[in-house]
Amino acid sequence: MSSIAERLARVHARIHAAAEAAGRDPADIHLLAVSKTRPVADVEAALAAGQRAFGESYVQDALPKIAAIGARAEWHFIGPVQSNKTRAIAEHFDWVQSVDRLKIARRLSEQRPPGRAPLQICLQVNVSRDPAKAGVDPDEVGALARAVAELPNLRLRGLMTIPARSEDPDRQREPFRHLRELYETLQTQGLALDTLSMGMSADLEAAIAEGATLVRIGTAIFGPRN
Ligand SMILES: *Cc1c(COP(=O)(O)O)cnc(C)c1O
Repeated sequence: MSSIAERLARVHARIHAAAEAAGRDPADIHLLAVSKTRPVADVEAALAAGQRAFGESYVQDALPKIAAIGARAEWHFIGPVQSNKTRAIAEHFDWVQSVDRLKIARRLSEQRPPGRAPLQICLQVNVSRDPAKAGVDPDEVGALARAVAELPNLRLRGLMTIPARSEDPDRQREPFRHLRELYETLQTQGLALDTLSMGMSADLEAAIAEGATLVRIGTAIFGPRN
């Protein structure tokens, strides 16, 4: 089995190749290492290999890692945000990529500790309009974005999506294209967005072809999850 450092290097090579194929600068694509369910030792190994941003989906699982590693890493919350977890998220994370309701955004803004940088926010969009999936409806993302942009302790950075799985590279691109179009529409309307968070281990090439600026990669860096 190869090491985290080796797998990380392979992911960087995939990002590079996908960017070049799309005529894009690889430096415009940021890598979030999704460390949910992984032990502190795995995060340390990735840090030692130069990785800095980590994504977590479960608050209870993340807090001990954040306590051990702290500001040596940048912490992104990417899981469903429950109302009773907003305080812990606002206190311990740098980013929340999975905001899909104004009520949650308001709580995060109110509960962000004074003196800390604003919490960096992406809105999660349910591009496939699947009722079983999290995310704001594409028709409502504009209104939510304008409301979130007004909250004092948040900084709206962009959009995120988790599309339905597909093995077919052409079908993989459809939801990513849709998210990019929504993102460009909001930019045209005057919102200063710079983050299009889309693409995971199985579909990062399709996401980069459609303009991703941040890919969220777990399995390809840390191996299969239990
Ligand atoms: C788990 C997870 C990922 C990483 O998925 P992999 O297929 O392991 O790369 C990315 N984004 C979100 C929101 C996740 O929950």
